[in-house]
Amino acid sequence: LLEVSDLVKHFAVREVQGLSMFRGVVRAVDGVSFTLRQGETLGLVGESGCGKSTTSRLLTRLEEPTSGAIRFRGTDIAGLKEKALRPMRREVQMIFQDPYSSLNPRQTVGAILQTPLQVHGLAKGREKQRAQELLELVGLNPEHINRYPSEFSGGQRQRIGIARALAVEPQLVIADEPVSALDVSIQAQVMNLLARLRDELGLSFIFIAHDLGVIRHFCDTIAVMYLGKIVEQGPKQRIYTAPQHPYTQALLSAAP
Ligand code: ATP
Ligand code: MG
Repeated sequence: LLEVSDLVKHFAVREVQGLSMFRGVVRAVDGVSFTLRQGETLGLVGESGCGKSTTSRLLTRLEEPTSGAIRFRGTDIAGLKEKALRPMRREVQMIFQDPYSSLNPRQTVGAILQTPLQVHGLAKGREKQRAQELLELVGLNPEHINRYPSEFSGGQRQRIGIARALAVEPQLVIADEPVSALDVSIQAQVMNLLARLRDELGLSFIFIAHDLGVIRHFCDTIAVMYLGKIVEQGPKQRIYTAPQHPYTQALLSAAP
């Protein structure tokens, strides 16, 4: 479904040291390659700043890569212009880390869910009904369609974020630390919801996490990222029982 080869993203930065300022480059993503098969769930794991979010923003083409290829269903989307990206904009959806900043506070939940339907011309004439079905799908009350994000808890907001991602019936969902901002007890509920929806809808999934604990029961394969590179990848079973790279071993010994 997705074949990523030698993906690179460098950011130009201005750094100030003492009195002099010079231009530098942050190698946020520094040659990432992996393959995701249809129906597979990949866990992308690594410490803060290693380039996980940047990778997800490249895969969803919220950013343009410096170099490398991203083949989605055989088409390299790495250098495509916005118009040519439209089909992929529907088929690949993201769920974000922070349920407080990722929903527009001035839109009702109904509007948040209907906007992607309108953008992609789906459920024409029955957008409101579809929005209510989506709320039910994620375990929220469909009568709350006219409420604003601020009237929901963190866990409920993340459910709205999930409903928004699923509104356009994507093939692939990329979730960037979707439960990190939630209480531990709520984390399990949201993980269970994601697993159930993924299985019911037959989604392919990339799940980003900063430790190996939260994804233990969720992923088929694991890719471990360190300083912009994938240092180890393989089937979950092997990564958890026989990690090769010292960084993976360190991550594993820290996992709850
Ligand atoms: P976290 O677990 O904290 O979310 P992450 O693995 O998602 O971390 P990224 O957000 O991908 O990490 O950042 C990787 C590196 O790229 C960091 O050093 C970050 O400062 C840098 N970076 C990210 N976006 C930009 C940008 N727009 N301009 C300059 N540097 C950036
Ligand atoms: Mg991140």
